[in-house]
This record gives sequence, structure tokens and C-alpha cells, in this order.
Amino acid sequence: MAKPKLYIPGPIQVSEKTFKAFSQPMMGHRSKDFQELYARVQPGLQKLFYTRQPVFMATGSAWSVMEASIRNLVSKKVLTCMNGAFSDKWYGVATANGKQAEKLQVEWGKPILAEQIDAKLATGEFDAVTLIHSETSTGTLSPLEEIAKLKKKYPDVMFIVDVVSSLSTRKIAFDELGVDVMLAGLQKAMALPPGAAVFAVSEAAFKKAEQLKDRGYYGDFIEYRANHEKNMTPTTPSISHFYALESKLEDILTEGLDARFARHLENVMIVREWAKKNGFELFPELQYATVGLTCIKNNRNIDVAALTSWLKKNKNVQIDGGYGKIKGQTFRISSMGDETTANIYELMGYMDEALKAIGA
Ligand SMILES: *Cc1c(COP(=O)(O)O)cnc(C)c1O
Repeated sequence: MAKPKLYIPGPIQVSEKTFKAFSQPMMGHRSKDFQELYARVQPGLQKLFYTRQPVFMATGSAWSVMEASIRNLVSKKVLTCMNGAFSDKWYGVATANGKQAEKLQVEWGKPILAEQIDAKLATGEFDAVTLIHSETSTGTLSPLEEIAKLKKKYPDVMFIVDVVSSLSTRKIAFDELGVDVMLAGLQKAMALPPGAAVFAVSEAAFKKAEQLKDRGYYGDFIEYRANHEKNMTPTTPSISHFYALESKLEDILTEGLDARFARHLENVMIVREWAKKNGFELFPELQYATVGLTCIKNNRNIDVAALTSWLKKNKNVQIDGGYGKIKGQTFRISSMGDETTANIYELMGYMDEALKAIGA
């Protein structure tokens, strides 16, 4: 039987078209052909990021750039904003890199608010802050626009923002926000195979990085910038990901960014409506619910494992039964990437059947 269709929030389903692009023949990464490929994806990436800065692609998962951001930009102390499984990990990554770090911990499912960051930065102890825009483990979106306004008040603080499960689901304008690093792994909202991440770096962040002596090599922002001048990457990249990205950006720009954002919103509304109709609540408050996926609270106390396995066995689709410490207390459905309203309605139909079948 074919592998189940993925409605888990990452990695998500990859289209035939993307796979076809992904499997094109290799070329030398110092060749003119590669330089041309590199240059071709750049305008699309800049549109997606709403930026005039270069947008780099790292061969490595999101964490490779999350760790690199710490190494490149933290000299004093980093404030790690924590409200879920992914953001919670950033504190340990910072200290594992020998950096001073302090936690801004809020309860899972709650957003990080600008005033909470403001109160911490006001101490003057910090030169960087890490934030996850869309905390995928809890489906929670923090108000990035408000948070980014703090950059004006604290121009010397580096704002490092993970947009892994929000990039391309809504407008996130790097230049306008004025944040310093924006990064995303490609296996979530971008619907590529895992193994690569894209990121933009502000002028202020390049200046800061130039002053740091222990940036390391693999994730050195300055090395990325120097190679970018030649339409190249510091080391041999996943050329397949460049091919796939070219194809995906073509899809995104053909659909149009605004139409893509609207589709994602429609998709997620269908899932939220299904939850409400069946007596479930969202895990985060509605106003802080993210767009690319839905984290549903198991307030009816159903057997989530039975639900997910029934769907897999009978419909060959896979949803997520909750992440880490909220496994079973929540379940998550991805509606990002290439999903259409028709796909999502079909899945909701399966979910109705599944609830009946497990006697919930
Ligand atoms: C999945 C995810 C990550 C981790 O990505 P890796 O690809 O495993 O490095 C980081 N942040 C967010 C918000 C995620 O959803």
C-alpha cells in the first residue's frame, strides 16, 4: 500500500511536481549551471520574505540555522522566549554553544507578548532574543508585528525569528518588520522534503556577526554572504533542494502570495469549524491560533491514539496525536503547503467517520 498521506505538521506531503524537480541530475556546485540555478531562486525567495536582503539556503534542518544564529549574534546574553516544544529547546542550544541565556517561559499554548519581552530587554542585560513565530507543537502564533516594534526601542538587540510553520501561510515582511534573522526549514509550510532551511540576515546582524570571533564555520553568516556574491554556497549544498525550491517558488508565485495566504486561511477555518462542531476547543486561544495547522484540545477526552490509528488504517492518512508532554491531550492537523479546501473537507469527512468508529 502507498505510504499514508501526511496531515502531520511536518514533514508534510510533498507533491509529485516537487519530487520530480528534486530528482533532476546533479551538477558541479561550482559550475556556471549551479550559479544560474542559485540566481534563479533568489528573486522568488526575496518576494516570499518581502526583502531586498539576500536569502540564503542552508543544507541542514531548521536547527542548523537556529544554532548558527546564536553563534553569529550572541556575545552578551540571549533571551530565549519559550512557549512550546521547539521554542523551549532554544535555551539549551544557546547554553550548549557556551552562551549566557535566560528563559522567558510561558505556559504551552500561550503566546509570547511584546510587553513580556520589553520588560526583560529593559534590564539592558541582553543583546539577542529568540522567538518562534508559529509554535508548531501547540499551534500558537505570537504577535510578531508588535514584538518586532521593540527593535526600534532596542536597536542593538538582535531579533532572531523562526517562521518554520508560518512562512508562506501569511505575510511576514522581513524588511518592514526590521528583525535581524528570519529562518524556516523547508519541510513544513514550504512542502519540500526535509534537509534544508532558508534564512535572511539584516545589515545590523551582519555587522554584529563581523565582530564575533567564534561564529564557527558551517553556519557562518559572513561566509554565506561572501559566497552569495558569486551565486554560491559555502559548502556543497543539497542541489536537489535548490531544484525543488525553484519548482516550489514557481508554484507559489503562479498562485500568487495573497491567494496562497487566503487558501491557507480557508483551510484552517474548515478544521476549526470541524473542531467546534464536534465539541472540541482549540489548544491556544482563537486569536493566537496559527494558520498552517490546528492544535485541537482533547477536552472530550477521546482516545487520540485510537483516532489516529483508525485514520491510518482505514483511510491511509496520518494526523498527529499531540507533541511531547501534550501527547493525547491534543491532536494536530496540518493544512499548510499544497492542501486545498477539497482535501481538507475530505479529511474532515474521514475524521467524522473515525469519531463514530472509535465510539467517541
Ligand atoms: C519543526 C520545527 C523546528 C525544527 O526543525 P528541524 O527541521 O527539526 O530542525 C523548529 N521550529 C519550528 C517552529 C518547527 O515547527
